Amino acid sequence: MEDNIFYKFAIGELRPDKVRYEDGEMLAFDDIHPHAPTHILILPKKPIQGIAQLEPGDELLVGKMVYRAKLLAEELGLADKGYRLTINVGKWGGQAVPYLHIHLLGGKPLNEDIEHFSYGE
Ligand code: AMP
Repeated sequence: MEDNIFYKFAIGELRPDKVRYEDGEMLAFDDIHPHAPTHILILPKKPIQGIAQLEPGDELLVGKMVYRAKLLAEELGLADKGYRLTINVGKWGGQAVPYLHIHLLGGKPLNEDIEHFSYGE
């Protein structure tokens, strides 16, 4: 986990280029390789590798991250037309960075992309 760039963002050792939101529990910032006009990642400050590693008690934290995504989408004017939240889980799920994060994508129609949607390798 110590070598993980998102972990370094979470503990404040490194700073993402464009931070969109931060509080004591989470950090939201622009994806470095955006797949849509808006592409934001939301990660918890608590180090969690991914959805598969969630433990009892993490439900509220994940719920707050989803709610923050909704608020960011509204702030950025995405809510009327719609947007997408995705969480890739593990290798076959397309998760390249082993640190829990939600993708918030919007600003263009995404429906046709769904079957081809993947990140990383
Ligand atoms: P995933 O495949 O779900 O693990 O998504 C990882 C995402 O992290 C990809 O969309 C990458 O473009 C993004 N990413 C990797 N490194 C950085 C970075 N230093 N700053 C911002 N986004 C990053």
